[in-house]
Amino acid sequence: MRKLCLILGDQLDRDSALFKDFDPEQDKLWMAEVHEESTHVWSHKQRITLFLSAMRHFAADLEEKGLPLDYLQLGKHGFSTLADALADTLQHEKPQEVWLVRPGDYRVLGNLFKACRDHNVLLRQLTDKHFLSTPTEFKHWAGEKQPRMEFWYRELRKRYSILMTKDGKPVGGKWNYDHDNRGAFPKTGPANLPSPPDPVTDEVTQAVIATVEEHFPNHPGTLDSFQWPVTPQQAEAVLQRFLDHVLPDFGQYQDAMWTGQPFLFHSLIASSLNLKLLNPLMVIQQAEARYHNREAPLAAVEGFIRQILGWREYVRGLYWQQMPAWYSMNTLEAERDLPAFYWTGETEMTCLRESIGQTLTHGYAHHIQRLMVTGLFAQLYGTNPQQVHEWYLAVYVDAVEWVELPNTLGMSQYADGGVMASKPYIASGNYINKMSNYCKHCRFKPAQSTGDDACPFTTLFWDFLDRHEARFSGHPRMGFMLKNLQRKSSDEREAIREQAIQFFAAQNQQ
Ligand code: FAD
Ligand code: SF4
Repeated sequence: MRKLCLILGDQLDRDSALFKDFDPEQDKLWMAEVHEESTHVWSHKQRITLFLSAMRHFAADLEEKGLPLDYLQLGKHGFSTLADALADTLQHEKPQEVWLVRPGDYRVLGNLFKACRDHNVLLRQLTDKHFLSTPTEFKHWAGEKQPRMEFWYRELRKRYSILMTKDGKPVGGKWNYDHDNRGAFPKTGPANLPSPPDPVTDEVTQAVIATVEEHFPNHPGTLDSFQWPVTPQQAEAVLQRFLDHVLPDFGQYQDAMWTGQPFLFHSLIASSLNLKLLNPLMVIQQAEARYHNREAPLAAVEGFIRQILGWREYVRGLYWQQMPAWYSMNTLEAERDLPAFYWTGETEMTCLRESIGQTLTHGYAHHIQRLMVTGLFAQLYGTNPQQVHEWYLAVYVDAVEWVELPNTLGMSQYADGGVMASKPYIASGNYINKMSNYCKHCRFKPAQSTGDDACPFTTLFWDFLDRHEARFSGHPRMGFMLKNLQRKSSDEREAIREQAIQFFAAQNQQ
């Protein structure tokens, strides 16, 4: 055999660089379903189902095209890790080289490299053409400076000529319409909500669901409501639903939340992008066309494109720039265990109950729920950031480490001390009250920091500032919050500390 070409579960790209110069006479494709990829973090059943079903559909496409493929199916082989499965193939097939598109996970890359090295086979890493920039370009661009998303986004807008005028200016005169994109719903709630995408569960997915129930019965989440696209055609249908019915309202309500409404005006395409069922440039160009055709306002279209061309490319660049150091960073020395209710949703705090509840039901929560509810609470509580990272990697259908880890350890937990976010994303319960109706259905009062009805977010917000006062004094963007803390009397501050201690103690007993 000349080369063995590995395809991982998040590399289901029909245009992958692996297919260039692939010769079916002397090369072979290789895919494997192994236990470890679902158990190294305690993966949600829908996440496992999505990956396995999409892999099996992809394998069926390859076979239909007559391409030679070794597919190791869960339950039909005895290897628990990718490295063990690969080692066995290397021993028996003796390829001259192993080819692999850069994986989405540093751990996987290391394990596969080691397996090849142990068998004296060269592992050749190919550029992932799915992305619009490469880690090397990002590294050169970032240099020694602290890279900020906004400037990488502008680079890529210019490079791909997205929302640009002929003379090289941003369409509309501004690069960023974020300030127009922070609306809450009126008191009556969201109007004209589009219905969610139709679930499609074919025979392949049904078989995978049975496998997941058999092999991973105690994993979090339920499979009753599985609805995620597992083929490019299904992913395209979800994208078209978004472009036709949701995009015009995307920006305005991007940060808003509402009880019983898990999807609101979001696109639901992250899992399809991350498994490479959708191509990001196609998605961006289709969204841009909706603006030029006057079907969606500029603020909504720019806001959506910024998420994909800006944030998605930026976090990937940062991931490869910062790994492996990022794994273990814990600047705020946060050491509490993740509260048990993150795995059950059983808590009196409505905002957390709703956000975690829909996560367990659908494997999905939107960005502000991840950042300003579950992420915010974990940070204010002083949760060990590696435990928070493992939770996010486990419970979301779109979770792949290159995108999950920077968002969790960097943006949400400030574990990296400012590599990604210039300051901690912290707020009291008042923010959640402003952006949702959760507090109206909660036994706590968002404005109260002490007493029986005190909102735990508000108590812990002040307690966080109190705990980290010295660390952040002099931080240019934390001055306002610290001044507000310093306006409180010493009695008030002591009462907040006492309330927080009682809250921590109560959590420990649960
Ligand atoms: P929309 O809100 O419709 O946004 C459109 C697209 O933009 C998304 O599909 C996604 O591809 C991209 N996008 C938006 N925000 C980001 C971002 N911050 N970083 C990278 N891409 C972004 N996203 C993941 O894809 N996988 C993860 O594992 C993941 N973990 C996260 C963990 C935390 C703590 C936080 C705060 C955010 C995380 N995100 C992650 C980013 C974001 O929350 C999700 O991409 C988004 O909620 C997915 O839903 P959607 O497809 O409906 O996105
Ligand atoms: Fe969450 Fe506090 Fe509002 Fe309750 S009052 S929903 S705990 S922010």
